[in-house]
Amino acid sequence: MINASLKELAAALAAKQVSSLELATLFLERIAQFNPALNAFITVDGEKSLAMAREADARIARGEGGPLTGIPIAHKDIFCAEGWLTTCGSKMLSNFVSPYDATVIERFKAAGTVTLGKTNMDEFAMGSSNETSFYGPVKNPWDPAVVPGGSSGGSAAAVSARLTPAATGTDTGGSIRQPAALCGLTGLKPTYGVVSRYGMIAFASSLDQAGPMAKSAEDCALMLNAMAGFDARDSTSLEREAEDYTRDLGQPLAGLRVGLPKEFFAEGLSADVAQAVEAAIAEYRRLGAVTVDVSLPNMNLSVPAYYVIAPAEASSNLSRFDGVRYGWRAPQYGDLADMYCKSRAQGFGAEVKRRILIGTYVLSHGYYDAYYLQAQRIRRLIARDFVEAFRQCDLIMGPTSPTVAFALGDKAGDPVQMYLSDIYTIAVNLAGLPGMSIPCGFGNQGRPVGLQIIGNYFGEARMLNAAHQYQLATDWHRRAPTR
Ligand code: GLN
Repeated sequence: MINASLKELAAALAAKQVSSLELATLFLERIAQFNPALNAFITVDGEKSLAMAREADARIARGEGGPLTGIPIAHKDIFCAEGWLTTCGSKMLSNFVSPYDATVIERFKAAGTVTLGKTNMDEFAMGSSNETSFYGPVKNPWDPAVVPGGSSGGSAAAVSARLTPAATGTDTGGSIRQPAALCGLTGLKPTYGVVSRYGMIAFASSLDQAGPMAKSAEDCALMLNAMAGFDARDSTSLEREAEDYTRDLGQPLAGLRVGLPKEFFAEGLSADVAQAVEAAIAEYRRLGAVTVDVSLPNMNLSVPAYYVIAPAEASSNLSRFDGVRYGWRAPQYGDLADMYCKSRAQGFGAEVKRRILIGTYVLSHGYYDAYYLQAQRIRRLIARDFVEAFRQCDLIMGPTSPTVAFALGDKAGDPVQMYLSDIYTIAVNLAGLPGMSIPCGFGNQGRPVGLQIIGNYFGEARMLNAAHQYQLATDWHRRAPTR
């Protein structure tokens, strides 16, 4: 059961081979057994989970179950969930029980899934290693001495260790794809605007997107079916007709044009990752795809532009955390200004403070034109590079991360090295495009390698098709850390 696909779980539930209550119990037991070493969950509340499972069983018994009804999943602790502690990995929200559901949570509830708990993450989703969490680092199930990636590292570790069949994540600069790569999972960041951001605690609003993290492309497609859709409560949510993301999974790949940007295979890519990614591309050729050399000439500007735009938006978004209405308030303070200062000084960790300082600086009078506007211009150039590239290809492929998972503590003292972990993922967020990572082998010390697949706008079904066909031909996605 712990390795079953979502489709297999749904079939077992429909055939009454297993109940939702039994499934929830099984995964809660695994969490109790393995989570203390992994630290993948911030909150687990068995009673709540079991109550949801009983409801799902009743719904299935009435014949009203859907494709995900009764299936347990975990949610990144960035999603507000009614009655659940919702911390965003921060001391600032360490006492915040959400009074409402994010749209993503609401949709999964409507689908009848069972919430297993809230997963650990980098504080306010700022990080690539899950070491900035107030709740401590998450360990990679493949090797407890290395990081799971971030910021959705808790979700990645939880799925990888089979503590949950699937999980939600969010991706502002790579936070679904990079941890998926480092933990040997399939993860998808949708086109900006496809999944509602309502109730998802904001980091950089023009970049943030929620998406699924699971064991396979097919599972991601089923998850995305539940997550995607217009929401009037998010002003950037796109009004489009609903799609069935599983519809093209079975299409053959003959004639698929795969673009290989030369910038993805240049200096900085470690040899073990390059080897696995090249082998995956060879497999795509065997499956009938043709490869085309393309170029994204402004790719090298994506990390610098991101580290102006994302902190700028974060400094604005995080100004709401002032200790007044909710969240951490300093126990002792003088006047109101002192209360703000002390509450924020105590409530935020070092990385969050660094981003607020950078963001406030680049938005300040006299620097706005030099940094923020300039970064926005670069953002436009990067988006244009992709438009050009997609004239010659249907999908773009390359590595997700320049290296396999690194040791805990390795990059924690060097922000710039940490920021470069997202060198291949960030441009996709700046352009608002959809991207995925799928397991494609193992690199140094047997650590997983991810292949990144980038689609054109609304190309989710096409990416999922390419990922699924590869997963029919290979078994990398079935490998799990032995337990
Ligand atoms: N690692 C990047 C950052 O720290 C991206 C994080 C994310 O996608 N949430 O900002």
